[in-house]
Amino acid sequence: MHVLIVEDEIPLAAEVRSYLEKEGFSCDEAHTGKIASDKIFSNTYDLLLLDLGLPDYEGIDLLRESIANKSSAAIIILSARSALEDRIKGLNVGADDYLPKPFSLLELKSRIMAVMRRKHGIRTNILNINNLEIDLDKRLVSSQGTLITLTRKEYDILSFLILNKNRVVTRLQISEHIWGDIIEENYNSNYIDVHIKNLRKKLSEYIEGDFLETVRGIGFQFIE
Ligand code: CA
Repeated sequence: MHVLIVEDEIPLAAEVRSYLEKEGFSCDEAHTGKIASDKIFSNTYDLLLLDLGLPDYEGIDLLRESIANKSSAAIIILSARSALEDRIKGLNVGADDYLPKPFSLLELKSRIMAVMRRKHGIRTNILNINNLEIDLDKRLVSSQGTLITLTRKEYDILSFLILNKNRVVTRLQISEHIWGDIIEENYNSNYIDVHIKNLRKKLSEYIEGDFLETVRGIGFQFIE
């Protein structure tokens, strides 16, 4: 999951980033509204963590921009401004949640998981599909009690495909979700194919039939 942290307090941005990266997220930072605006325009994020009080930009305008920009990212406002008015304004403009500063990193993660569950229309962090159990919080995949050992990238790709099950996910979407904006030319390379091949091999012991379809020239689809 690719997250943009928009925060002008650089130590706080670094703290959030280091925590979320340990939890398996891929993160990008913007310390000004201008940089955030450019990044939102040119990259695809699953989630924006948005500080409302930026030196060069009204956070609310950034929120409006990213929504007008048809960004599909979920948005959580982070702000020291505990004023009810700001909170209501943010939510009305289209933010998914609001977390007043200071916040605990554990709470931040729970809010992120809740927002992502709502985005994908699921109620719990445990998904059951095709004989698999995926624990989105612990990032574990098992089948009837047997833990299936996946690499970090394999897990990222599998959970992304499963959250978008029965829909074709393009190579570009996978690349952006997994690697962020750092590897633009690689979505055409065979990195993704290698991971998909390994996933098929590891999971075929537990799932029958063709559960992970290649859609030629486009991408992949997890079939429930
Ligand atoms: Ca600030």
